[in-house]
Amino acid sequence: MFDPAAYEDPSPTLHDARVLLERVWGHKDFRGLQASVIEEVLGGRNTLAVLPTGGGKSVCYQIPAILRPGVGLVVSPLIALMTDQVEALKQQGVKAARLDSGLTLDERNAVWREARSGELDLLYVSPEGLAAGSMLDRLTELPISLIAIDEAHCVSQWGHDFRPDYRTLGRLAEVFPRVPRIAVTATADARTRDDIVASLRLEDAQVFVDSFARPNLQLTAERKYNGSRARNDERVVELVAERPRRSGVVYCGSRDGCDRLAQLLRDRGINAISYHAGFDNRERDIRLDRFLNEEDAVMVATIAFGMGVDKPDVRYVIHCDPPGSLEAYWQEVGRAGRDGEPAEGITLFGPSDIAWSLRRLEGRPMAEEVKQVQTRKVRQLFAMLDGATCRPQAVRRYFGESAAEPCGCCDICGDPPITFDALVPAQKALAAVQRLGERFGRTRVVDHLTGRTKDVQPWESGLSTFGIGSDLSILGWRDVIDHLMFEGLLVEDPNDGKPTLRLGDPEAVRAVYRGERPVRVRQAPAREVVEKPRRNAGRNLPMESLDTDVRARFEALRGWRRDRAKEQGVPPYVIFTDKTLVEIAVQCPRDEHDLSRISGVGAGKLDRYGKAVLETLNITN
Ligand code: ADP
Ligand code: ZN
Repeated sequence: MFDPAAYEDPSPTLHDARVLLERVWGHKDFRGLQASVIEEVLGGRNTLAVLPTGGGKSVCYQIPAILRPGVGLVVSPLIALMTDQVEALKQQGVKAARLDSGLTLDERNAVWREARSGELDLLYVSPEGLAAGSMLDRLTELPISLIAIDEAHCVSQWGHDFRPDYRTLGRLAEVFPRVPRIAVTATADARTRDDIVASLRLEDAQVFVDSFARPNLQLTAERKYNGSRARNDERVVELVAERPRRSGVVYCGSRDGCDRLAQLLRDRGINAISYHAGFDNRERDIRLDRFLNEEDAVMVATIAFGMGVDKPDVRYVIHCDPPGSLEAYWQEVGRAGRDGEPAEGITLFGPSDIAWSLRRLEGRPMAEEVKQVQTRKVRQLFAMLDGATCRPQAVRRYFGESAAEPCGCCDICGDPPITFDALVPAQKALAAVQRLGERFGRTRVVDHLTGRTKDVQPWESGLSTFGIGSDLSILGWRDVIDHLMFEGLLVEDPNDGKPTLRLGDPEAVRAVYRGERPVRVRQAPAREVVEKPRRNAGRNLPMESLDTDVRARFEALRGWRRDRAKEQGVPPYVIFTDKTLVEIAVQCPRDEHDLSRISGVGAGKLDRYGKAVLETLNITN
């Protein structure tokens, strides 16, 4: 059995860390920047690590916490996240516990006792918990080995998920001056990183930023049908139905939308669960549990769902309504394929979505400066969605990876859209909107440009922009105007259901008038492009492509795993991930020694499950 005490050493080395990784997690070696980050933390120094989703952030603090004497304190924003990580650690034989509002007084006392006796390696707490009452005082009495702050971008209002409770975490620097602190996150642009450093008082910290590449993710974006909710719903149902028996997340902008789509999906026999802030905590927990425990569950959710949900085998994320920024986009699509296996991110978007996103920002109580930054983030997202640049490449450049190359597998790489130079049409459209006094909607502006306004009045036909648009078709003009909206050059105001267009960002508009800012528009709407048979549809079928006998073994192992998970009341993947089960099914190990060589089979798991796994394989052979 794994004995952490045997590993506690006052000056642990990277070698010790590697041995522990192999023994407890069953992984052969560190990936990416893990080793560098761990070395820094083992050395007792403050650290900020920005590693991509699925990059293995947790071991960066879990391993040093086990190796360094004392208990590692982990600040984590969500109970679901804590529960999951603590469960997974226990399965691996690591002594971990959480202190959260869901525990009874007796349970809390038991955790404190364990922590004081030095038995615990990791203690998870929430930021609210830390801010409230006596928790900090009580923690100062414990031997703390390190403090880890998970999802650290939440501290910054420049980020995309600001949580006021995170602001108080800077105090940890004063309360625990000699304890190394490590902040980790998957998404933070340069400005957000600076804010994390300042707010969490990590001025002396080494900052590690890994590539944001997620090569196993295949990304697509497609235009919505204009103004037809039913057709858009139908498209989502179709996308889900094309991916049978796989776990996915469908993001929806509204509670009603979640309920409606989940019902439509259930009508088609899909195991869909609606999830949003309209359900009380208990109901949300039940629904989250179902999603985690049922292998084919599709979660139809608002963004109230997701952060910290580490289900590794989510095979796709579909945005029926686009997110609010590239950071949010990357984080949300990043919830697919955490296990490194192929997965997809599909985003549906339309001109009314950008208008909606901008309006929602307007209503938020935030400083004008912050609002401007957030508005720019919305525009950058839509410029990417409607753009013609490889999607991961565009996102990675946005995050500062200027050398990022095209991914080779997104919809843009697979079928590069044809664009045309639309500078002159853009100038005409902007001028038309301006001359019309910013009082009309898209249809009327197009009529004006093409000289088709019904019963045109002299004041209008006398404008220099009237009828100057004979160079493009009506559809062509609609595309140009949509694109100008996606780039933030035009803005649509709701005007009580009769939307009107006005000029957007004045700097950018001036640059277009002067011919200094290029405008390229896609020749065909993206929707038509993806309606062709999808060449890549087979790419995401790792299980289906297995040999029959391997598949039979995999299914048997899955069945076995389901029973063990039920018995213990834990999600199946904390026992073994799909990735590990597939590898076991492929390798078909004959003894525990062979089994232990498979990635994801550490000593704790071997001890608990080794025999049963081998028996399950024997039965199928
Ligand atoms: P993150 O929090 O960065 O999204 P996790 O810490 O949840 O990622 O890790 C994602 C998955 O990668 C987990 O299943 C984890 O066990 C696995 N993993 C972590 N480090 C390694 C490694 N060095 N080699 C192989 N798998 C790893
Ligand atoms: Zn690409």
